[in-house]
Amino acid sequence: MPSHATKPAAKHSPQLDTVNTLRRLISAPSVTPDDAGTIEYLSQRLGALGFECTSLDCNGVRNLVARRQFGPGPVMAFAGHVDVVPANPRGWIAHPFAAAVIDDVIYGRGAADMKGGVAAMLSATERLCEQAQHCRGTLFWLITSDEEGEAEYGSKIMAEYLAQQGITLDACLVGEPTSHQQVGDTIKNGRRGAISGRIQIQGKAGHVAYPEQTVNAAHIAGDLVNELANLSWWKDVLGSQTSLQVTGLTVPDIVDNLVPASCEITFNVRYSHAYKSQEIYQIVAQALAPWDDHVSVQWERPCESYYTGSREAACFLSLVEQAIFRVRGQFPALSTAGGTSDGRFFASSETQVIECGVKNDSIHQVNEHVSVADLHAIEEIYTAVLTDYFGV
Ligand SMILES: [Zn+2]
Repeated sequence: MPSHATKPAAKHSPQLDTVNTLRRLISAPSVTPDDAGTIEYLSQRLGALGFECTSLDCNGVRNLVARRQFGPGPVMAFAGHVDVVPANPRGWIAHPFAAAVIDDVIYGRGAADMKGGVAAMLSATERLCEQAQHCRGTLFWLITSDEEGEAEYGSKIMAEYLAQQGITLDACLVGEPTSHQQVGDTIKNGRRGAISGRIQIQGKAGHVAYPEQTVNAAHIAGDLVNELANLSWWKDVLGSQTSLQVTGLTVPDIVDNLVPASCEITFNVRYSHAYKSQEIYQIVAQALAPWDDHVSVQWERPCESYYTGSREAACFLSLVEQAIFRVRGQFPALSTAGGTSDGRFFASSETQVIECGVKNDSIHQVNEHVSVADLHAIEEIYTAVLTDYFGV
């Protein structure tokens, strides 16, 4: 039993509260898009803290928008998700939804991605609310159960809802797991964009012996692959490694004496925050222009890039950096690496989005876990961010 559990007479025991909250969240098998009661649970906890909670239900997805206004001042949000990827119990040290605590480590699906972050956010919020009389500004909670899937009806819907209400966030902290060796060693201040595309090539079929009467779709495909693979991404930012990768090349109904009439190329682009998806469309369209008569492109699953740089006044990025330095004794590294994240839905020229959370070395894996010490560390960081932001 960790020593904190036996500490007497404290107003509350933050570490134990957070562990209990996390265990409660893990025990709900909230595989995307089913929130398995976790949104209702969070609504109740936040409601008890004076938050006004709105449930935004869309196509079977439940989202939570909770708000507490302390007074006039800036608007910040905690954002995250309660859904998890599936877990087959095979190979686990304990059942993935049992939330077992073994040697001060909490095991379970979502422990790191990102119910641990949500539990720590809740404890930090409780600690802030104990000092509400000294606070200014407004704190939002934006929680979805549709992050691990297509993310069509989650954060995007909440961002649209805020816009409809005329609410602009000044800052948003996403509790995704971003740390590597130590909690707080890395935060994300942006993400690359991603998009997939599908090119249909239409030629003219005919006998291979008379190629002059045909248009070979496979040959066009070869030229296109060459062109696409050698595009120059001159706006790329160091570390972003913008790249277009061909993911498939399909010729239907291959016959050895037939020049194929059609062919399909599929590809995916991962691009630096220096680009927006519109520019990617243009660059690819330009590359395909010489073959305009024969090709058509269809775009799929766009995920916009985002980036939070420094600001002269009221910079949330530097506030988070300072808070981490105060709690952990070192500044975090900034990164935009990894896949896409829901941060993209909240980022704008007005809203600075930072992702900061526990270690990500076990996420989506067998025996996903977070240690009690790491959970406590991230709770301390979140608390420091809140106290600094709301002027306690
Ligand atoms: Zn996540």
